[in-house]
Amino acid sequence: MKSLDDIFGQDAAIRWLGAMMKSPRVHHALLFAGPPGVGKATTAAALAAIFLCEKSEGGVACGACESCNAMHKESHPDYHVIYRQLIRLEKSEAAARDLAVDTIRRHLIEPAGLKSSRGRGKVFVVEEADTMNLNSQNALLKTLEEPPGRTLIILLTDSPDYLLPTIRSRSQLVQFGYLPIDRVRSELIKRGIDAKDAADAAEMSEGSIGLALRWLEDGVVAAGRELLASLDELPGSAMTLSGWFKQFAEAYVKTQQAREDAKKKRTNADEGDEHEEKISKDVTIREGLHIMLRLAAGRFRQQLASAGYESEPARCEQIEATFEAARYLDRNVNVALVMENLVMRWSRAFG
Ligand SMILES: [Zn+2]
Repeated sequence: MKSLDDIFGQDAAIRWLGAMMKSPRVHHALLFAGPPGVGKATTAAALAAIFLCEKSEGGVACGACESCNAMHKESHPDYHVIYRQLIRLEKSEAAARDLAVDTIRRHLIEPAGLKSSRGRGKVFVVEEADTMNLNSQNALLKTLEEPPGRTLIILLTDSPDYLLPTIRSRSQLVQFGYLPIDRVRSELIKRGIDAKDAADAAEMSEGSIGLALRWLEDGVVAAGRELLASLDELPGSAMTLSGWFKQFAEAYVKTQQAREDAKKKRTNADEGDEHEEKISKDVTIREGLHIMLRLAAGRFRQQLASAGYESEPARCEQIEATFEAARYLDRNVNVALVMENLVMRWSRAFG
């Protein structure tokens, strides 16, 4: 269990939250905004530990009471994490593209109205809060404004603009920022990652320590390296790229499935196998390919900046094609079709 002091590189946010936890009046709705993987979820858990601790003093959790032990074991009955994939536990065919109103009702609004198990109140953390659809956001308003009893609701998002103004105005904004890439690199090395991996992961994640660690673990950094090398060999590498994307997508689905299984075990340990889990493979594939498209667009931009003006039109066409493919992926167009078409446009850009 991490404490607020363990959060890396978010000094302003942590100082503010530390002061808030010491003050007698704790905001009951917080909006953590900032890029993915910079510590929003870890901070929310650390805050929850203080909020739920039975002997917290001066804004610090005691680390020894039953509540702290339960937080440490990730099994606190009053700590609720709400995330898109929860819907898959209820409806096996659901794609979990957004946070549906049923999920918000069942996992937040209803339990918020019940008595807390350990008597210290309840904490609800909504991951990717911007994926709440309109119905979900509207349903949440009342609870957000006047949560029953001693309740802390923390919304996490990298796109606060996607939230209704009424949601934003009812919650206290806490801003998390990107970290300088060099700081992420040296922090990764400090954590035992080898220098080359650390440099690539810091660069690819654009200064997000959480994404960097996750992508190293999931093989995304290694895959990204292969892709970038292959892009440098265009148009010659076009023949193999479509197949490469397919392979990457399959490997990515496997790692994400393993991740989700582990998370499900932690958060629903008491529910057992009551709900048959069926992961929406298609959604995961699109998410994985989005990461690769982002890396590709970044590489083309670098090439655009360093190459002579005669190659400018080709680079611009490649960047444009990449963004268009990303839009098609969002719009549910057949994945294989999108990627084949993209690789073709990448290689044809050279005329
Ligand atoms: Zn405690």
